[in-house]
Amino acid sequence: MKKALIIGAGGVASVVVHKCCQHPDVFGEIMIASRTKSKCDALKEKLENTTKTKIQTAQVDADKVPELVALMKQFQPDICINVALPYQDLTIMDACLECGVDYLDTANYEPLDTAKFEYKWQWAYRERFEKAGLTAVLGCGFDPGVTGVFSAYALKHQFDEINYIDILDCNGGDHGYPFATNFNPEINIREVSAKGSYIEDGKWVETEPMEIKREYNFDQVGMKDMYLLHHEELESLAIHIPGIKRIRFFMTFGQSYLTHLKCLEDVGMTSIEPIMYEGREIVPLQFLKAVLPDPASLGPRTVGKTNIGNIFIGKKDGKEKHYYLYNVCDHQECYKEVGSQAVSYTTGVPAMIGAMMVLKGLWKKPGVFNVEEFDPDPFMEQLNLCGLPWKEDFNPVLVP
Ligand code: NDP
Repeated sequence: MKKALIIGAGGVASVVVHKCCQHPDVFGEIMIASRTKSKCDALKEKLENTTKTKIQTAQVDADKVPELVALMKQFQPDICINVALPYQDLTIMDACLECGVDYLDTANYEPLDTAKFEYKWQWAYRERFEKAGLTAVLGCGFDPGVTGVFSAYALKHQFDEINYIDILDCNGGDHGYPFATNFNPEINIREVSAKGSYIEDGKWVETEPMEIKREYNFDQVGMKDMYLLHHEELESLAIHIPGIKRIRFFMTFGQSYLTHLKCLEDVGMTSIEPIMYEGREIVPLQFLKAVLPDPASLGPRTVGKTNIGNIFIGKKDGKEKHYYLYNVCDHQECYKEVGSQAVSYTTGVPAMIGAMMVLKGLWKKPGVFNVEEFDPDPFMEQLNLCGLPWKEDFNPVLVP
């Protein structure tokens, strides 16, 4: 039985904690540590009489390496699951190196003052993790995360070569608010208001935000508008899946969301540049986050389904082949099981499975890795067992 330190106590962390508690054979002890300890305590209170997993809680500022080191030295975890925010990735990785702890996260590092995420900062830790004999698993949510595992699985079992990948992220859920985000509003709005981009022939092609729009008819959700976005797994999959000619990422957005976002952008509310307000410096986007609904509160009111997956085009035995791997997840089913909506669920379940892979020794190797660099099979098996079953389509409609 192993020990996991879970950092963060938000929407995703809550699912990770619930799912770890469903597997006490792997997660013998967990420590939930976050900035606001009361949120950790609330999770502990909800779960401790329902599981054999032993739960402790702590307060930590994960921006501060010495605080993290003190906590790790005291608790002595085997792995640290980082489900705080992307800004904390590097400090947590530093603490893991200092204390000899394996590491896993769901989003790549992004500096607080620049809305630009890329892997270079975390990939720069490779040699240090290798030398320390420690494993770091990067981006192990759904996208990035399962989308990378799907790619490794498709390459292993369905193709000799994959040439095109389209990742389609559809949220057909309705929370009843005119405007709310399904995960941390600050991270979400930074992501969708940035320029779009995709990789073609080894080069990034940049687009204006929301410039490329397509329609797609999603299984169990229906017809939706989707828009091309920049997304972090494009960068790693273009390197790790040989033969790739083009890789794109699309996300669905409803008209109400887009209209509100445009208006908020036009009045400057999505800016990350600090401004002075009544003698105090504030960041407009952080203020906006404070007035928007907390994503963790959307669970009871969100109905509908998500459908996220990858369409692959490649070659098998000299012939062109098309293959679609995807998962459909029901917001209300997630809420019944763990008290969260499907966006938190589809992120938290893969984070727990990734940690399980490392703790069981199945994904244990020294260095810093993206998920597609590991054997996908045991992870795919756990997706089916842990609430995110996948479906295959051998004749999918392609995205123009
Ligand atoms: P939330 O905002 O709900 O939760 C973030 C948590 O981190 C909060 O509990 C917050 O504490 C805590 N936190 C923030 N800063 C610190 C700090 N300095 N020290 C300690 N704790 C801190 O976010 P979500 O749960 O929605 O998202 C969690 C992560 O998952 C994000 O990185 C997000 O980008 C990622 N994600 C990944 C997806 C994927 O598919 N790969 C999809 C969706 C999200 P406090 O309560 O005090 O605010």
